Amino acid sequence: MLSVSKSTKAIIEGNKIDVDNTLFYVIESYTEFKLEHMMGYDALIIDAQDNFFTRHILKKLRSSFNHEYYLKPIFLLNPRETNDPIVKGLNDGIIFSLDQVTELTNKVKQLFFNSTQISYNTPLTFEAQVVKKVFDYMFTRDIKSLTPMVDMNSSVGFSWPEISVNFEAHEDAQVLEILDYAEREGYVWPDFEERVYLCNNCYNGYLMYREVCPHCNSSHISSQDLVHHFPCAYVGPIADFKNTIDNTLSCPKCHKNLRHIGVDYDKPSVINHCNSCDKSFQDFYIKAKCLSCSNDVEVQYLISKNIYKYKLTKKGRAVAVSGMMNAAEVVEEIQGTIALDTYKIMLHYQIERMRNNKSLKSFIMIMNLENIFELYNKIGNKAYRKLLEDIVMLVRENITPSDYISIESQSTMHLCLNDVEPYHVDYMVRTITHKLKKTIADNFNNFELVMRIEQQQLQSSTSADKQIIALSKILFE
Ligand SMILES: [Zn+2]
Ligand SMILES: [Zn+2]
Ligand SMILES: [Zn+2]
Repeated sequence: MLSVSKSTKAIIEGNKIDVDNTLFYVIESYTEFKLEHMMGYDALIIDAQDNFFTRHILKKLRSSFNHEYYLKPIFLLNPRETNDPIVKGLNDGIIFSLDQVTELTNKVKQLFFNSTQISYNTPLTFEAQVVKKVFDYMFTRDIKSLTPMVDMNSSVGFSWPEISVNFEAHEDAQVLEILDYAEREGYVWPDFEERVYLCNNCYNGYLMYREVCPHCNSSHISSQDLVHHFPCAYVGPIADFKNTIDNTLSCPKCHKNLRHIGVDYDKPSVINHCNSCDKSFQDFYIKAKCLSCSNDVEVQYLISKNIYKYKLTKKGRAVAVSGMMNAAEVVEEIQGTIALDTYKIMLHYQIERMRNNKSLKSFIMIMNLENIFELYNKIGNKAYRKLLEDIVMLVRENITPSDYISIESQSTMHLCLNDVEPYHVDYMVRTITHKLKKTIADNFNNFELVMRIEQQQLQSSTSADKQIIALSKILFE
């Protein structure tokens, strides 16, 4: 689909490289960097000799809320070996010499093309804004899941680079909250990966585990084996059996030498002694001291948290291209339409009627406005509802009052046309297609609407659900 001519040549001028009108900018290590200067370039190449600098630039771009920056194609030149999730996870490719720049143009064009598919309506809440930009990034890069990476810079020990880049190291609790939100909304599906334990005061995961005295909490403990001498039944700490001259053990009670463990003696357990309060005890406590807030807590009271790999659901994938608007909200506001659930019930009744009266004919139809999001993005959040209303009205004017319309999403509409003949349906499809394309072109600067309609006669032998799914398959696959 996208091709590059074989005779591509790179024209290099200072830090700018022009390959067939694809403009690259090379960011050299430790040179001054201004985000705004990157606006005019199609892609960036970071001289990645220094991980700290590379991380800094990647973070600056990917954490921006302006899609010009967070979706920018970024390549690394000669990167150093690193485990940094941001450096590793948020670049678009690696080159080892600027001679390879010509090989990057296809990728840059593909990323640009992908970014034109995205809806740039800004959601209202902060959580939704973060999720939206993360999903945009994933959509353009064809990333299907949010994978946790072990990360020293994260206070919980893991980060999900696409999300974590938007937060500072001490804000990891917020990263987890965003993931919870995305899961609650059904955008992602969790897959267990690991369990971590966090401070119950500050949610930090860097903890110092110690065995402490149950009486005074000191970790200044020494342990020694308990010895049980079988012949005389004496039990005592191993120190009582030792002498200062050699390694032989002899019983303090009966004065016999101990010979073979398991034969004449054994070590039934361990005895601990606190050097701080001088008490002896069998079981110590295990405490975890938080390296961030110094809170010292018994491990049973730590907060355990599952770390998941999150797979994008169908709903999640749709967020990038269609925004976060809930179709149900749209339907409530648009007159002359019914919710999809109601639509299915109506079809069910229609099928019942057809079973009793064989002469009845109904058609179901799905209409998809393939590139309508480009238009929604242009006209903005508020105007698009009005546009959708106008589209529904136009469709409504060209069908009969007894037909049903249901909106599945901002680009997909279901129709059921009742008591009609096939030739009449064909005529309706042609009329609606023609009028819709013309109205849109006339009102929006010759915008060329790409739309597809599939229809088929409603069968009385199969359920409405199955027929809708089958028709969707024809349209979308
Ligand atoms: Zn003994
Ligand atoms: Zn003690
Ligand atoms: Zn803490």
